[in-house]
Amino acid sequence: MKLGCIADDLTGATDLALMLAREGLRTVQTIGVPGPDVDLSGADAVVVALKSRTIAATEAVALSLSAAEALRRAGAQHYFFKYCSTFDSTDEGNIGPVTEALLGFTGGNVTLACPAFPATGRTIYKGYLFVNGVPLHESSMKDHPLTPMRDANLVRVLQRQTKLSVGLVTFEDVEAGPDAIRAAFEREQKAGHQIVIVDALTDRHLRSIGASAADFPLITGGSGVAMGLPAAYRAGESVSRKAPADRFDAPGGREIILAGSCSSATNRQVEIAMERGVPAFRLDPTALASGTMTAATVLDWLSTQETGGPVLIYSTAKPEAVQEVQQQLGRMEAGEIVERTLAEIARSLPARGFTRLIVAGGETSGAVVNALGVRALTIGPEIDPGVPWTRTLAGTDLALALKSGNFGAPDFFLKAWGMLR
Ligand code: ADP
Repeated sequence: MKLGCIADDLTGATDLALMLAREGLRTVQTIGVPGPDVDLSGADAVVVALKSRTIAATEAVALSLSAAEALRRAGAQHYFFKYCSTFDSTDEGNIGPVTEALLGFTGGNVTLACPAFPATGRTIYKGYLFVNGVPLHESSMKDHPLTPMRDANLVRVLQRQTKLSVGLVTFEDVEAGPDAIRAAFEREQKAGHQIVIVDALTDRHLRSIGASAADFPLITGGSGVAMGLPAAYRAGESVSRKAPADRFDAPGGREIILAGSCSSATNRQVEIAMERGVPAFRLDPTALASGTMTAATVLDWLSTQETGGPVLIYSTAKPEAVQEVQQQLGRMEAGEIVERTLAEIARSLPARGFTRLIVAGGETSGAVVNALGVRALTIGPEIDPGVPWTRTLAGTDLALALKSGNFGAPDFFLKAWGMLR
């Protein structure tokens, strides 16, 4: 196995697995640390999806290390730590502490940190992260329910999370190509830096970065920076390019959308689905907390939806509404109750004939997939940048589209269903 990857959330893992598959690596995604029962033989890359973005830093470190050990046992030669392209984290972590721990695990002296993903509008210039041209702290990420991002300067953000010194390789070096980037990494290392933020504005930049860092034992970033790695590995060794699957068969069955993301993209996608007549049920976190609404309430409603078309269950709400709920219930408590309810609903979906699921939200997807007992996924075709259809590898046969909150065009849900027809 060329590349063993650890992702801090599920949709991020899928996004990375899609990138590696598209670039020609045979890629398997596991949900949680794979046990000996999960067959990883024959994979060029394995992406382990954790749910470690917002847990305590010490737990995130322990979990990431146990994933790294499982990947090493399966033969991983290089490691990749995947986090969100909007660098979702708090001052406590978990990007800094996990990077530190994994760098120690791999025995590397230096690693890079590059969340850029130009295809979804995430670019880095002079160490500042932009989302569709707007600095991170002015983007909708400033209002994220769990990890509000209020500083666009990634060197500063990361330095608050780690005792390792954080350096920067800027646009000028990246634009000049792989040799210049290699020289810049050396310069940063000599200056005492062990984690280096790297600017990237285009896919060409990402491919150059991949080529220059292919020897690093550990790379960290978004899925974008993985773009150049498969080609770099092939140049050095005998990993042949595999054509990505051109066919995707979804199991027959009913279709449902579970939306727990409150991102601006998901808000719009939910609006459009409802405008187009998709029957919808809104989860109310306050009612869930008081017990006046339960998973059973939602399932009763679901039983009345017998049209055969897709249905939508959502807690998606605008920032003001989220804030109000958080003031009443607490930030983490509000998230937790919604996730728990969606997980409980998900658990009874296969028995009700729902085998085609779209889940919106990274944390939400983690909760839903855990509830469904999914262990591993194969990667199917891309719906929108960063979001493929996937199919479960063992257990209940399901087609799953796991969407990071901010990803996808406004008509994402409808487009995704269209691809299954
Ligand atoms: P994204 O991919 O957009 O970050 P996530 O699912 O990772 O979405 O995170 C959204 C978080 O917000 C989840 O913990 C979810 O339970 C919580 N949440 C969802 N709806 C609401 C709501 N109406 N009020 C408060 N929190 C909510």
